[in-house]
Amino acid sequence: GRKIGVLTSGGDSPGMNAAIRAVVRAGIEKGMEVYGISRGYEGLLDGEISQLDRSSVGDIMQRGGTFLMTARSKRFMTEEGQAKAAMMLETFGIDGLVVIGGDGSMRGGLSLAKHGITVMGVPGTIDNDLGYTDYTIGFDTAVATVLDAIGKLRDTSSAHERAVIVEVMGRNCGDIALYSGLTGGAEEVLVPERPFDLNELCRKIVISRNRGKRHNIIIKAEGVDISSAELARQVQEKTGKETKVVILSYLQRGGEPTMRDRLLATLCGVKAAELLADGGSQSKAIGTVNGRIVAYDLEEALQQKRPFDEEMYDMIGVLAK
Ligand code: ATP
Repeated sequence: GRKIGVLTSGGDSPGMNAAIRAVVRAGIEKGMEVYGISRGYEGLLDGEISQLDRSSVGDIMQRGGTFLMTARSKRFMTEEGQAKAAMMLETFGIDGLVVIGGDGSMRGGLSLAKHGITVMGVPGTIDNDLGYTDYTIGFDTAVATVLDAIGKLRDTSSAHERAVIVEVMGRNCGDIALYSGLTGGAEEVLVPERPFDLNELCRKIVISRNRGKRHNIIIKAEGVDISSAELARQVQEKTGKETKVVILSYLQRGGEPTMRDRLLATLCGVKAAELLADGGSQSKAIGTVNGRIVAYDLEEALQQKRPFDEEMYDMIGVLAK
């Protein structure tokens, strides 16, 4: 049978373990040898490669993080590094590789595909910033964590009649802010995809206070072009309302994956193993579209820009008045 490798790369996300488990067990079932590569492309360059069996992925599905560990690799960003990484795989007789990670990791996979490796990209990132798939693995769990935080912050901001700016992750993608803002009942959501007007924001805060509202929850995506501290300073100055900042940061990356993230990870992992077991040499990006599992040409999938859901965004303004 074919020898394949699996690695996780870039920021970790809840559900990566479930994806690894699916790749390993479905891969072995299909008669392949599956090798785990530790620390992403960094570990690949160092030859941190060892064979996995069914039991080596036992009891990991429910855990956040990634038992293979992950890394960002500068060395791999060069043409020379990529050639070395491909050579390392060749040394181990591995010609198929499952890359679990975000946009950057998949671009790394594409560079290996150009050296003759068949690469299956599995979308593991909380950011939901890949254009070709409905959702990425970890996004649902991250949003659930933000919702939990919003609930707690609402209690304390009501008690003190404060405004609070909650900074969430997502890199250049506003989806974590959008989904948590809409389903968490935030008054305002600032995303990189939409310009924001400070005066309008402050006007809304003042009007809502006049109507008797005691708190204001403002969700701000990290990709918005103003620091949360500076925004808080300006809002406080313009509204006279005490304004605090909470940066959720790495809290959003940890924790037990939700059912949705485990399911997406499992479906993608099994699909990746099946496509490699069929002996194909086409590199693919795996995900879901309208809830159905899809596998697109890797290079084309990475060119797809993520559409921003304007309708959902506009609902926030309507519902949070
Ligand atoms: P997340 O956004 O969730 O952090 P990511 O996969 O986008 O995940 P990156 O840090 O962008 O995270 O990428 C992870 C690693 O993939 C990089 O450290 C680098 O080794 C490799 N990589 C990123 N971009 C490229 C590229 N264009 N070509 C080759 N390799 C890349």
